[in-house]
Amino acid sequence: MGKVIVVRGDITQITADAIVNAANEALLPGGGVSGAIHRAAGPELAEACRKVAPCPTGEARLTPGFRLPAQYVIHAVGPMWRGGEYNEAVLLAQAYRSALTIAKEHGLRTVAFPSISTGIYGYPLEEAAKIALSILLEESPNFEALYMVAFDEKTFQAYNSLLADLTSDDGTR
Ligand code: ADP
Repeated sequence: MGKVIVVRGDITQITADAIVNAANEALLPGGGVSGAIHRAAGPELAEACRKVAPCPTGEARLTPGFRLPAQYVIHAVGPMWRGGEYNEAVLLAQAYRSALTIAKEHGLRTVAFPSISTGIYGYPLEEAAKIALSILLEESPNFEALYMVAFDEKTFQAYNSLLADLTSDDGTR
């Protein structure tokens, strides 16, 4: 059975079959984790993105990882937080599910995620973490390992304590 692992670090350094990018609909480099992934992968990544863009919110697209240690990048578009009454929770769940569907279709066994939408897009961290972890836990049997890579301490703590809560009941995940 697969595992869900929360780690603190920079997703551009992670060796996995795929890392997930918190992308925008145009799949342009932008700031935040997307800018970091594009810088580390090299200019070929923007060119590859251009060919598979646009990507509506809730969907995902696959490209090679180029100079990254990860073989592929799965670009998933989470929602911008607009107060919570614009279908944000459904769209965030869809972004995670779309990324994992693509990963399964390509036989990928290890996938590393950033905390989608909780940076520039402003999604409240605790609420986003609940959605993200419930999907990763549900899908983990289909993978060797799913990583949540937290860039800062606050994000690391939020995911870590929630994961402990969600897995304390039976201890099997
Ligand atoms: P969004 O627009 O979806 O909110 P951001 O890139 O602004 O995307 O933020 C998403 C999360 O990614 C935030 O928690 C941010 O701190 C984190 N982040 C930024 N750079 C990196 C990185 N190199 N590795 C992992 N996470 C990162």
